[in-house]
Amino acid sequence: MIQVAVNGYGTIGKRVADAVAKQPDMELVGVAKTRPNHEAELAVEKGYPLYAAIEERIDSFDEAGVELAGTVDELVDAADIVVDACPSGIGAENKSLYDAHETPALYQGGEDAELVDVSFNARSNFARAEGADHVRVVSCNTTGLSRLLAPLQESYGVEKARVTLVRRGGDPSQSGRGPINDVLPNPITLPSHHGPDVNTIFPELSIDTLGLKVPATLMHTHSVNVTLESTPDADEVRELLAAEDRTFLIEPSYDIDGAGALKEFAMDRGRPRGDIWENCIWAESISMAGNDLYLFQAIHQESDVVPENVDAIRAVLGIADAEESIATTNDAIGLGF
Ligand code: NAD
Repeated sequence: MIQVAVNGYGTIGKRVADAVAKQPDMELVGVAKTRPNHEAELAVEKGYPLYAAIEERIDSFDEAGVELAGTVDELVDAADIVVDACPSGIGAENKSLYDAHETPALYQGGEDAELVDVSFNARSNFARAEGADHVRVVSCNTTGLSRLLAPLQESYGVEKARVTLVRRGGDPSQSGRGPINDVLPNPITLPSHHGPDVNTIFPELSIDTLGLKVPATLMHTHSVNVTLESTPDADEVRELLAAEDRTFLIEPSYDIDGAGALKEFAMDRGRPRGDIWENCIWAESISMAGNDLYLFQAIHQESDVVPENVDAIRAVLGIADAEESIATTNDAIGLGF
């Protein structure tokens, strides 16, 4: 069994911990938290050994009556691999900790690509992570774009991708984020950072991206135009994308018109936290004009990177190939509607 540690138990960390705990070949050795809040209590209730991320704060856990198993140093030492799910920039500060214990580490999309040996997406470059000490699972948006672009590139060739990313202002629990009554070009300058980030996965791909932020919390929406090198018809593209492991084609009969209905759909189907790990592509939106493909997809920012983190663990340790790992991960967490 692979011993996995999760350092940073917030939006992404708690979801990755749950997914790891479900894998047949992994054991969650513990999670590290900075504060004894309700999430810390939940970790203990779930039977996840809880470690103090900051030694000076051990007393606050004692005072709150939250049981600790030790410090993050001990956790990292006991693990075969650590998933760092700390806020952007903290992962970089933690790198020396992982190096000191010679424990390979996965970081999240908020860290700079320069921090790591490899930026990772299971569908696109699984094998490149084998043996790497530092791997970054790319952001929610880059994950969503990579999953879409990989099959298009393989089947038709991509001449140029142009994507407008309509991004949620914050996650539902981020009460301080905005905008609350505005639509912001963000960043105002072009390209947004998303295109260059996609190039960490597909170095040769020609892609331009524009970003907006809107008063929404549930999901991101991508307006996609890909100029292909060949001219499939829209039905062929629909079939291609439907056959992918981590896409969900929204059929017209589902009557799902946006992120709210998508989240309701996920909750009705018993998804933990209403999570949607798949790219949600409106089947009707898939259109061809000459060799230009157009479509809309929605991306659940809090969860699409979760199965990718699980696959990155196997990729780094070299214990499965992409197909095997993706199938195991999907089966264990119940991915696929
Ligand atoms: P978050 O704030 O919800 O969770 C981070 C957790 O780490 C918090 O519980 C925080 O208390 C804890 N923490 C802070 N300092 C720490 C330290 N020194 N040691 C251990 N824990 C510490 O953040 P998040 O949304 O889960 O984001 C984590 C990473 O994932 C970021 O790089 C982010 O860019 C990336 N990411 C976030 C989303 C998203 O939509 N939330 C999507 C994809 C990727």
